[in-house]
Amino acid sequence: MTANMIDAWFVKAMVKATTDCWEKGWDERNGGNISLRLTDDDIAPFLAGIREPRRLPMTEPLPGIAGQSYIVTGTGKFFRNVQLDPENNLGVVRVGADGSYLEVLWGYRDGGAPTSEYSSHFKGHIARQNATNGSDRVVLHCHATNLIALTYVLDWSDANVTRALWEGSTECLVVFPDGVGTMPWLVPGTDQMGDATCHLLAKRPLVLWPFHGVFGVGPTLDDAFGLVDTAEKAAEILVKVLSMGGPRQTMTTQNLIDLAARFKVVPQPEAMALDGWKLTDRKPG
Ligand code: 13P
Ligand code: ZN
Repeated sequence: MTANMIDAWFVKAMVKATTDCWEKGWDERNGGNISLRLTDDDIAPFLAGIREPRRLPMTEPLPGIAGQSYIVTGTGKFFRNVQLDPENNLGVVRVGADGSYLEVLWGYRDGGAPTSEYSSHFKGHIARQNATNGSDRVVLHCHATNLIALTYVLDWSDANVTRALWEGSTECLVVFPDGVGTMPWLVPGTDQMGDATCHLLAKRPLVLWPFHGVFGVGPTLDDAFGLVDTAEKAAEILVKVLSMGGPRQTMTTQNLIDLAARFKVVPQPEAMALDGWKLTDRKPG
């Protein structure tokens, strides 16, 4: 008898990740989406049971990931419901041989499809596979509250936002020395959004979409979740500090230099070169 995907480790891992995100308050309604690249070994036990997979066109061919398989949250699906019905809210897709379509191998039982943000996910996967020699396998997008709040007030550059989060908590520089990517507001679910996001993910493991949410990547779901959790915790501290009238004291550049030396990381030079971080001078409108 062919194994059933519902029992696969990667379905259980996606249930845990989506449930954790929901419990964190990062994924209201259908907010957020997660994709995990599967290896041939991951899906091999299940292939014999798959007949004539449903095909979905992609808006732009991505030959760079042709033949790869992913488990991806469904568009319009609520993270809070994934644990109740994984087969309806998740799906396993394989990118067609020329990269122009997806084959649904499992899931999306009600006729659904992968997240509307698939362009940012798949292009992000290409960028991270290149950047990490194939070790990164996860792209996680969510609406982490305090990170979004900061996008309304921080001076909007990679270096400044990175510096703010590094000063928001001592562990941040160690967890994300390459810092945070910042991009302009764009319409979600578009190839343009995917292009801008993957451009930043090529050098940074975190990307902030202003007034919308965050993208985090990593080798495993735990890594990507932990990365976003760390940044969001620092953001929460910064929001509280700003609410108390702003910092009266903070980590110094020398503190950051000492941290980098102790944990043997090379921090983003542009953020290190700043003398602290600042709020935007811009006025709304
Ligand atoms: P999906 O329901 O298509 O995954 O979209 C949710 C979202 O967060 C859009 O940015
Ligand atoms: Zn979103």
